Amino acid sequence: MYAEEVAEMAGRIRDEDIALVRERTSIAEVISDTVTLKSAGGGNLKGLCPFHDEKSPSFNVSPARNVWYCFGCGAGGDAIKFLMDAEHLSFVESVERLAARAGIQLRYVEDDRSTPRQRPQQGQRQRLVAAHAAAVEFYRAQLSTAGARPAREFLAQRGFDRAAAERYDCGFAPDAWDLLTKHLRQQGFSHDELVTAGLSRPSRSGSLIDRFRRRLMWPIRDLTGDVIGFGARKLFDDDDGPKYLNTPETPIYKKSHVLYGIDQAKREIAKQGKVVVVEGYTDVMACHLAGVPTAVATCGTAFGADHIGVLRRVLFDSDERAGEIIFTFDGDAAGQKAALRAFEDDQRFVGRTFIAVSPDNMDPCELRLAKGDLAIRDLVARREPLVDFALRHVINRYDLDTVDGRVEAMRRAAPLVAKLKDREKRPEYVRKLAGDLGMEIEPVQRAVLTAGSGQPAGEPSAPARPGPATPTVDSPQSMVEREALKLALQEPVLAGPMFDAVEAAEYRHPVHQAVRAAIAAAGGVATATGGAVWIEQVRDACADLAAQALVGELAVEPLRIDGEPDPRYVSITMARLQWGSVTGRIRDLKSKIQRINPVSSKDEYFALFGELLSLEQHARALREQAAGGL
Ligand SMILES: [Zn+2]
Repeated sequence: MYAEEVAEMAGRIRDEDIALVRERTSIAEVISDTVTLKSAGGGNLKGLCPFHDEKSPSFNVSPARNVWYCFGCGAGGDAIKFLMDAEHLSFVESVERLAARAGIQLRYVEDDRSTPRQRPQQGQRQRLVAAHAAAVEFYRAQLSTAGARPAREFLAQRGFDRAAAERYDCGFAPDAWDLLTKHLRQQGFSHDELVTAGLSRPSRSGSLIDRFRRRLMWPIRDLTGDVIGFGARKLFDDDDGPKYLNTPETPIYKKSHVLYGIDQAKREIAKQGKVVVVEGYTDVMACHLAGVPTAVATCGTAFGADHIGVLRRVLFDSDERAGEIIFTFDGDAAGQKAALRAFEDDQRFVGRTFIAVSPDNMDPCELRLAKGDLAIRDLVARREPLVDFALRHVINRYDLDTVDGRVEAMRRAAPLVAKLKDREKRPEYVRKLAGDLGMEIEPVQRAVLTAGSGQPAGEPSAPARPGPATPTVDSPQSMVEREALKLALQEPVLAGPMFDAVEAAEYRHPVHQAVRAAIAAAGGVATATGGAVWIEQVRDACADLAAQALVGELAVEPLRIDGEPDPRYVSITMARLQWGSVTGRIRDLKSKIQRINPVSSKDEYFALFGELLSLEQHARALREQAAGGL
């Protein structure tokens, strides 16, 4: 498909210009915008693959050959292909972006005519980014107008001088219906482009009006520094909108991925191997200005799995080098809840997770105002491991002076220790927990073991029941289960009823069961039409983050077949999957039969034996199917 697209598009951008773009582009620089790369020896570089979830880097870049390749998922190509895959750009958009970067003026040819001419339209992404760049200038200029006084006062009251406002390109959306819209229309942006960008919206009367009015504006940039959206703070009491308003989801703005400040922070994050997650635009500014240059914030959404993915690649978080992620919360109940939620995510994050709770319920911006830059640096330095924080929070809810209180606190706290990813750390935390509770080590250890084995140690709603770990791909059964799920996600129409007929119980690994259950909850494969919508439906139906992450991975992992999959391949895969589970049941049954006395328990013996015979028959049929017969 890529090659076809190249051939088709090469008729539009001149071949020699494309070649020039390839030649003048440093592939390492382009990829470094989104993935932190380290030396892999022999002049090659490596990092964490942006196209599949991994803990140790298998994503390789060869600057000498100008190519990249991932040994984990098999993706690879040149710089153009990287932008197409990583930024979801078209071929032309990718070439245009690289050309702009390298300072190359592209020439276009019209189909079979050989006269080069300026191509009237750029790619969509380029247009939307250009509209945002123009909007930044517009809002910036507005900040010095008379009407923007409340915006300037807001910044000044929070300790941000003119230089700070300029560094973050703060601006003001004026008290007018369509000033920005008209300004951008004059610059040649179309009605549709402004709506798609989220900068304008149609009014009830049908005319186009500005999305943001009478607000303090922060441009939100992606990793490469392109402005892709805005955050807007309410300034006037009679503004009945929410305190913060953000750009809606657009082709370039995905709030689940966006981190405010990442463009300025990424180099320090990679260098220091740590990132500080704060809650708002002013907190990011306060941290950076106070000497904590690694601060970022989510925009209008909770910190989630996609943010972790973005940060892990910048952090180069891997088994070899654990990155540190520090959440700051003001000490109120909401912050504590957020911290515990973060604990749920923590298991997907190899690095160590820390909590920094600011004193007196102050956010970093307030803290800097009240106590100065040093207080911010101190806040980050006094971080506490998330586990310690969560344990303390759980234990504090109980009266440890009573036996009942201590036992209940232990039962609630044990699952948190059982969830610890670093197993070596568990004994240490068992001792610590026993000490905090004033109990012997023995019962605490037992509670942790019970919690770790998947049996509920407290009520089923205990805050952190152990989630299934992501399975390794090493066993043949695990591999065939992955293959079946990949077929369901990538080729639902093909997988169809054959996939739906095999229930979740036939899958051996808990996380595979969870994905299978999510597929059923999303309506089953037989009704799915496929594509991104289908993947999203399954992701939404997942009960836990591990399953959700796996769906993302399996949706893109290549099938283990050369060429196109066909019904026969589906049939073989499903048969092999069931065969694994049936032979497991046969093994269990045989051992059970051996333990039964055929004389004293004659009825049970024959019942089990009959079951064994029919299972063996089923296994034979499956083996034939797995060998290739339909
Ligand atoms: Zn990969």
